[in-house]
Amino acid sequence: MAAGVNWCEFKFRVWHLLKGHQSLRGVYTCTSVLYCAGEESERKHKKYTKTVTLPRTDFPLRVDSQKKLDRDSFLYEKCEFSTLYSWQRRHVQGPEFILHDGPPFANGKPHMGHAINKILKDVVTRHKLLQGYRIHYVPGWDCHGLPIELKALDGHTSLSAVTIRRKAEQFAREAIANQKEAFRSWGIMADWDKCYFTFDKQYVKNLMQQFHKLYEMGLVFRDVKPVFWSPSSRTALAEAELEYNATHSSTAVTVQLLMQRVPDAIRPFIPLHGSSVFALIWTTTPWTLPANQAVCFNPDMSYSLVSVDGHSGKVYIIASELVGMLQQKLGRQVDVITSFPGSSLEDTSYIHPCRSDQVLPFLPAAHVTTSKGTGLVHTAPAHGPEDYLVALEHSMHVECLVDEDGCYTEGAGPALQGLPVLSKGSEAVMTLIAADILHSEQLVHSYPYDWRTKQPVILRASWQWFIDTNAIKQKAIEALKAVKIFPDYGGSAKSGGGLMAQLERRPYWCISRQRVWGVPIPVLYHKTTGAPILTKSLINHLCCLLDECGRDFWWTLPLDRLVSKEVLAEHSVSIDEVEKGQDILDVWFDSGFSWSCILGGEKVADLYLEGLDQFSGWFQSSLMTSVAVRGQAPYRAVFVHGFAVDAEGRKMSKSQGNVVDPLCITHGGKDKKQEPVYGIDTLRWWVACHATQHANIPVSPNVLEASAEAVHKIRIVLRFLLGAVHDLEPDIDQNADNSWYFLDRYLLHLLFEFSQNVNQFYESYQFNRVCTTLTNFITNEVSALYCHLTKDRLYCAPVDAPERRACQLVMNHILETVTRAVAPVLPHLAEEVFLYHPCKKGVNLFQSAVVKPLPDWHQPEVERVMTLALEVKQTLNKMSPLTNTQQLVATVFSSGETLTLLKMLQEEAQSSWSQLTEILQVSSVALAERRSPLKFYMELAETSQHLCGRCRRFTAHSSDEPCDRCQQVLDKLRAAK
Ligand SMILES: [Zn+2]
Repeated sequence: MAAGVNWCEFKFRVWHLLKGHQSLRGVYTCTSVLYCAGEESERKHKKYTKTVTLPRTDFPLRVDSQKKLDRDSFLYEKCEFSTLYSWQRRHVQGPEFILHDGPPFANGKPHMGHAINKILKDVVTRHKLLQGYRIHYVPGWDCHGLPIELKALDGHTSLSAVTIRRKAEQFAREAIANQKEAFRSWGIMADWDKCYFTFDKQYVKNLMQQFHKLYEMGLVFRDVKPVFWSPSSRTALAEAELEYNATHSSTAVTVQLLMQRVPDAIRPFIPLHGSSVFALIWTTTPWTLPANQAVCFNPDMSYSLVSVDGHSGKVYIIASELVGMLQQKLGRQVDVITSFPGSSLEDTSYIHPCRSDQVLPFLPAAHVTTSKGTGLVHTAPAHGPEDYLVALEHSMHVECLVDEDGCYTEGAGPALQGLPVLSKGSEAVMTLIAADILHSEQLVHSYPYDWRTKQPVILRASWQWFIDTNAIKQKAIEALKAVKIFPDYGGSAKSGGGLMAQLERRPYWCISRQRVWGVPIPVLYHKTTGAPILTKSLINHLCCLLDECGRDFWWTLPLDRLVSKEVLAEHSVSIDEVEKGQDILDVWFDSGFSWSCILGGEKVADLYLEGLDQFSGWFQSSLMTSVAVRGQAPYRAVFVHGFAVDAEGRKMSKSQGNVVDPLCITHGGKDKKQEPVYGIDTLRWWVACHATQHANIPVSPNVLEASAEAVHKIRIVLRFLLGAVHDLEPDIDQNADNSWYFLDRYLLHLLFEFSQNVNQFYESYQFNRVCTTLTNFITNEVSALYCHLTKDRLYCAPVDAPERRACQLVMNHILETVTRAVAPVLPHLAEEVFLYHPCKKGVNLFQSAVVKPLPDWHQPEVERVMTLALEVKQTLNKMSPLTNTQQLVATVFSSGETLTLLKMLQEEAQSSWSQLTEILQVSSVALAERRSPLKFYMELAETSQHLCGRCRRFTAHSSDEPCDRCQQVLDKLRAAK
């Protein structure tokens, strides 16, 4: 139905594109004004319209607004998007390509981060499918965790564990349904019927078994250690769950501690200056002073005994280098009485800052420096990792005086008990020791906050389960060396180096959480000794209970069901002597073991593809677990992408009000003028163009509009090609031979190179370069060069003329190759092209056989001839006095090899119908032999020939008759009737 309709848009577009894109070769400048002749000629031309073979297709040129959405859903159904995954699992015989899905949190609505991540994954798998691979891609969700639990709690504090779990599960299920619908609508090819969920029974059973396996291997252990603790969430937090607030204000105090046993080196000076000797310490966490267990000094530093103006009868010990700083801070004269080596502090002691009956030691430690403070470090092993190591070294019992709510326990004394350490407790401590505070100041510094509640966290010692990262670290770093990381920024922080550095820094991984929405740590404890009870038989028993009683079993079943008689007998304990653990597993442990549940056994994923933040998250946890259990990385390659930002480069956040909803891009906003319907392919193009090489991915109306425009440009050209091949017989011999025009073979040569380049960019995950290569090729080589130059052949030559058929075959090869090249990014458009292709007979592109460009398309010798011809064309365009070069006769003077090459394009001395006239778009070309220092030169003259009413070339002998070629075509048509 659409013959001849709207082709003007194509012509216009070509011209328009050319104005915008200065071609690399600079020769595609469209000088044709074929269709801009006068009225008289227009009338004559109409007479021949029916004898000209214009492109013909029903493929719609433009699909706008609501129709775009209808089109997307129509193609989704018609081209079997939803069953493609299972189809390829059944039919594709090639090697398997495993992309293991990092599970998003089952929390919240679909957002741009999801769109970026899922679409990038889909571009990868669709590309691999077109290369003949059988795709393994099972999407998953991370269903547990604090954010969901807090939603379920909704401010309540007294809900039972089971109620919280049921509500949390409901939240998670709703979020999953929402997200899944969006992911599917984006055309993502995946095993949607067999997704994995970290709360699935099978998944939970595997986690309990893996936990036990690590325990047996000695790679998990329980210990009291200071960990980041969020009083507002009542749980331990991992490093990844912290946010650093750079504007946090703390009260820092300089405190005097009365010495009990003083260093021998200063004894002689005491009677002269005062009887009381104090050590000076400095801390930004005064609330940890009740838990003080030692003061550390550096034996290699020098210390001084000083007197302070106005503090008569007292002398102080401080690092020599910091005396000046103390003087400045106090605003008083500080005089050094004597100096002595740090080692003199060994075997000395002091009185606890809050408890006068407690005498504590000075201990040597290398972490003490003179960068700040006093050079004498207050040490509370329950509240600092370095302090903890000191305690470990000196076999000190770690004392924790802070409970799970972040309040002082009874052990802190009646004045402090029950007070929250970060507010009233801190004030109470300072009141308690007011007489010993020499100086206090407000310090603004970076301080860790709970990423969820936005409240400050504390370091607090508690019984936790840990993975022994030190035992795994070195192996993990070795395993990582064999992993390819994309994009490759060398060893920088954005690349593999980042992951390495993160690994090296990681001190230990605390995997227990004191919450309920998660997988229970399947351990019983001996009530009096606290010894864990964890055996294979217990785990087997718990797995059966999980199957039998559901995933809440740990909370719903009484203890005598949880622990079987056999287990009790095995440990020679009675039921009254044991209690069940109250901890759940860190969600990073859940997702970190996804490989073992989804890939199973020894399978390694070909690719993990997630955001940059997963260097400290899932990439790392998965590596640790896989290396621990099976001694190898879970992935062969890792591909990282950045995050969506707004037009000003700001991160998207609710508080900024700059969040873009992907649904708004695909389906349009409320005001369709402000937020038009872009459809799925535009969203996908935007992702491919911007999400692969940059950490920041801008979303703005301009960027989206540019993406829509790019997709439309591709659509126009593919539509033209579809129209051009409308009368191609499906069984025609498609192989090129040497009788084909150089221009035709040149295009195949370019097509081969294009295909190689695009493939290489897909393989190295440089989708932005896929997009630019595609756009450039379609705009320049296909549209402006080939489609433009061959119009006469295509429209006006006899329908079955070999040169017309060759041109159609080239266009068909372009159509096939380009459609396959865009297909991973724009699957809807690609399938639509196949739907309208005259030779495809309803075969879906993604279900068709693998097609690769033929090696014999690659013809460097053809390129040599064409490069020369295009050089001649460029010279001609520069010289031409007329905008319409069709009115010109060009005489090209050359000699030797140049002439030999040009003669390949035109055997005759003068011709209106040679390959060269087609390339140069002139009335006729004359080739003459003449030596000159130049490779060639040219003379142009206006032709004496007339405009042919049919083909619009200046090839007719008179203005009343068509040209000889057209006359022949007309005679033939007449005879056929
Ligand atoms: Zn003609």
